[in-house]
Amino acid sequence: MSKPSPGHSREAATVDVVLVGAGVSGMYAMHKLRQSGLTVQGFEAGSDVGGTWYFNRYPGARCDVESVDYSFSFSEEVQQEWDWSEKYATQPEILSYINFVAERFDLRSDFAFDTRVLSAEFDEEASLWRVTTDQGHDITSRFCIFATGCLSAANVPNIEGRDTFAGNTYHTGHWPHEGVDFTGRRVGVIGTGSSGIQSIPLLAEQADQLCVFQRSANYSVPAGNAVLDEATRREQKANYAERRRLSRLSGGGSPFTADPRSALEVSDEERIEAYNKRWTLGGVLFGKTFADQTSNIEANDTARRFAEDKIRSVIDDPAVAEVLIPKDHPIGTKRIVTDTNYYETYNRDNVTLVDLKSDPIEAIDEAGIKTMSEHYELDDIVFATGFDAMTGALERISVTGRGGVTLKQAWEAGPRTYLGLGVPGFPNLFIMTGPGSPGVLANVILAGEQHADWISDFITYLDDHGLRTVEATTSATDAWVEECSERASRTLFPSANSWYLGANIPGKPRVFMPFIGGFGTYRQICEDVSASGYKGFEMVAADD
Ligand code: FAD
Ligand code: NAP
Repeated sequence: MSKPSPGHSREAATVDVVLVGAGVSGMYAMHKLRQSGLTVQGFEAGSDVGGTWYFNRYPGARCDVESVDYSFSFSEEVQQEWDWSEKYATQPEILSYINFVAERFDLRSDFAFDTRVLSAEFDEEASLWRVTTDQGHDITSRFCIFATGCLSAANVPNIEGRDTFAGNTYHTGHWPHEGVDFTGRRVGVIGTGSSGIQSIPLLAEQADQLCVFQRSANYSVPAGNAVLDEATRREQKANYAERRRLSRLSGGGSPFTADPRSALEVSDEERIEAYNKRWTLGGVLFGKTFADQTSNIEANDTARRFAEDKIRSVIDDPAVAEVLIPKDHPIGTKRIVTDTNYYETYNRDNVTLVDLKSDPIEAIDEAGIKTMSEHYELDDIVFATGFDAMTGALERISVTGRGGVTLKQAWEAGPRTYLGLGVPGFPNLFIMTGPGSPGVLANVILAGEQHADWISDFITYLDDHGLRTVEATTSATDAWVEECSERASRTLFPSANSWYLGANIPGKPRVFMPFIGGFGTYRQICEDVSASGYKGFEMVAADD
């Protein structure tokens, strides 16, 4: 296959794979596909690699899976050479790491940056994808891989008067590269998900006045972050192989597992001790202390009560504490936030919590935010309002499959994939960490690696067997959609208005999008599918 001319050529060219997105998933896919001997043209809307970690530069941004685990596992050299300075690295450190990996494996050279893919259309005659970009590319490829991100399409709510605000507005997912100095300013933050909760303590330290506009409270557990000393790093590096093995077998993509017993079958003392241990370990893992915590409401209540006591113990004003304690979802059914000094921040004199449940936003005006009963004068508004998750980035591209049907049309009632990887009606198209995949409930870097390895092996298989097109069958897809939904229905997750269900986006179909059966289980299913000669996919020979 000939390579396309680099840069912004208008000339159509043919490559094996068009790869969209240069976040961690796209980066590893680039490496793996090239290693498999395929030609790849990557496109990335941002100016460089990193995706999430390139765009989310808000103060306080960190990972919530320990860095030693939330990192590429494909290169032992990189694992041994890179030194993480903290248990949960900051965004700048994660981006430095990403740059280090990109340089080591020359991952930039086949990506066109500052280039947004506008459309991808499957040409049934030629069995090729035709891909266009906002920089004038119009190229063809045998395969199209979307590594466009599960949390990359920002959601800026359409609040009345939003554009009339005279001050500055920011979204956490598109933070200015030069940073923002809030010294002496009156700042409003809308949103108390992970991005809001991570940024609020640092914004409060800088701003003159900080108003937090909370619609739904979230559970948050202190990170228990720590500087990693040389001895800890040496020990982690010496045990990397085992750490990764356990992560790949685990439900959540890190080497920690829940106590297999019910939270209800152990003594009160034992239960409290277990919760205390997980609380000290820090962050999101608290939600998986006992196996039935997110499937049995009584078991969940024991964890919820423990967390609520912790929250109350930190906040001086009991009325503020009550507003910060979620009332609308079982703990762990929205991603538990991993914070640093979040609840303590509400003890500061310059911080006001506005409870939008009792006093909703009416409008934004030139001078600030007006709720039903108050007007808050502001210099800056920070939208920590999240993303059109899992489907948003894909549906913002015009993807057309067989018979002129677009992906948006095919997914009108909710996303439908087989294994999260293939879509019926869209031959030779693969999706990474999207709906139907366990990625967002696991460790997305390891999930992305698994997807890329699996897709690359599949393409090699097709080429070795003289096969030209592959397409997920409708029956396998129906079964997978049903399996995802059935597994979710056995848990408490569907009861929460989370982005997993699209509940944060008005009008989005309410469908539980990720595969909740665990990363290890999912890997095994994918391995079984490949070992069976790719059951559930229809393949057509090159000469048919
Ligand atoms: P992304 O990093 O989102 O990359 C997708 C890329 O595709 C983007 O660069 C985007 O510009 C590009 N793109 C999209 N559409 C187009 C188009 N049409 N044309 C060209 N380019 C396009 N997960 C964890 O497991 N652990 C964590 O600790 C964690 N922390 C997070 C913190 C934040 C602030 C956020 C927002 C998410 C976090 N996540 C975390 C989830 C995170 O999104 C993933 O871990 C991971 O970084 C996603 O990588 P990706 O390559 O799949 O997608
Ligand atoms: P999010 O969890 O969806 O939170 C968005 C917040 O904005 C919610 O509090 C939401 O309230 C609020 N909101 C949205 N629209 C609103 C409106 N019109 N009016 C008032 N409030 C509104 O988004 P996020 O915080 O960016 O996090 C998304 C995911 O990214 C996380 O779950 C996590 O997986 C990942 N992430 C991880 C980290 C980390 O710690 N490493 C950091 C950031 C993000 P409602 O709940 O009422 O909708």
